[in-house]
Amino acid sequence: MKDSVRVRIAPSPTGFFHVGSARTALYNWLFARHHGGRFILRVEDTDVVRSSTEMISVILEGLKWLGINWDEGPFFQSERISIYTKYVQSLLDKEKAYYCYCDPDELEREKQAAYKRKQDWRYDRRCLNLTPAERAEKEKQKIPRVVRFLVPDEPVSFFDIVHHEIKREAEDIEDLVIMRSNGIPTYNLACVVDDYEMGITHVIRAVDHITNTPKQILLYQALGLSMPEYAHLPLILGEDKSKLSKRHGAASLMSYKEKGYIPDAVLNYLSLLGWSPGDDREVMTTQDIIMAFELDRINPSNAVFDEQKLEWMNGQYIYAMSDGELCDRLRPFIVKYNLLDAEEVESKKEFIVKVCSLVKLRMKTLTDFKDVAGYFFDDDFEYEEDGLKKHYNTDTVKLLNDFLSRIEQVEGFTHEAIEENVRGFAETNDLKARQIIHPLRFAVTGRQGGPGLFETMELIGKERCLTRIRRFIDGFKG
Ligand code: GLU
Repeated sequence: MKDSVRVRIAPSPTGFFHVGSARTALYNWLFARHHGGRFILRVEDTDVVRSSTEMISVILEGLKWLGINWDEGPFFQSERISIYTKYVQSLLDKEKAYYCYCDPDELEREKQAAYKRKQDWRYDRRCLNLTPAERAEKEKQKIPRVVRFLVPDEPVSFFDIVHHEIKREAEDIEDLVIMRSNGIPTYNLACVVDDYEMGITHVIRAVDHITNTPKQILLYQALGLSMPEYAHLPLILGEDKSKLSKRHGAASLMSYKEKGYIPDAVLNYLSLLGWSPGDDREVMTTQDIIMAFELDRINPSNAVFDEQKLEWMNGQYIYAMSDGELCDRLRPFIVKYNLLDAEEVESKKEFIVKVCSLVKLRMKTLTDFKDVAGYFFDDDFEYEEDGLKKHYNTDTVKLLNDFLSRIEQVEGFTHEAIEENVRGFAETNDLKARQIIHPLRFAVTGRQGGPGLFETMELIGKERCLTRIRRFIDGFKG
């Protein structure tokens, strides 16, 4: 291993941070951290029409949310045009590139026509063979010109750390445009120049780019530059086995923040989308992942994004979290769901922490809190439909009425005292404890399931529990 690993993430800003780009960023970052190297952030924003500052901020926000910090950058390709121009000029000087004056629309029409005939199409180098006089004429007429790279007539092969030997025949690669007529370089040229100038040792990127790699290698060779190593990451597929895209609804990294996911859990899950530590560990701290991360453990087969698995993993993180930390993370959700206002969240912190300890086992995401704990905050909760059918009848209402007179007398409303009274009441009335516990839970919480009833009642408090039982009884019309 080179002792100074330098890797990069080079997103093109599109206003959306795809989980696949987040996974690429993560693998680069893990590799850099594992080897004590540097992780560089470069924004590939030469496609000026599509790029905007706001789109870039989505990427920065996503990386920060996951805790992926970068050591250098962000560098913006749009600010480095003069550097690329210098390299393009050197290729022109060495006659390894040439000006092409062809009308791009006309070429596109030719290409489509060939595809219709089920034929391959490659640029036929007609501008390479222009005579000096023809060229001078086109210059005189100010015909827009692009720069094309003169692709050598030799096959290209390279070793990919994930996919191993890759070979591409020369005739499969056309003379690619490296600079547009507006003087802006294309992706392949800018990528090679930047990877070289930034001292990138390993290019770790999605496998969709593997067809670009032979072109980039030829550019390195033509420019006489040293090359990085390559590792192309498997695709991430949706559950329908097509490439995960916006249409799957699960592709945006930041949607997981809104859906109440813990960034460490998302990082953990993404780390396993194409890599494994080589044993059966799944829930791992970021530090453990860094320690175990090696490129040769990346699986070349495509990975399927399994949202249920991610949800499960998130639940594990929530469960392992201290009640205090969970309370802190829940703050924005508690306010958003109007369970409490921002000030109450501060003044009732102790109460929320206790609620967390009771319900966290039942939460997979932070948004679940509303459903599993809403009744701790809201006395006017809705009753579950099924439970109403089951518990709203004369017998239950009578039972709860009788129990009410007993529980009203309970001094010190602790869970022990509540339990003793519930069990005592059942015994006196010749009932099984559950025959009173189930309706009581329903009256107090509106739910048929939940954490321990006695602890729940203690936390809700005597007065609120009595009010709730009375509300249940009074609402019964018989
Ligand atoms: N801008 C490219 C992308 O977002 C980066 C490709 C690369 O890493 O070379 O896919």
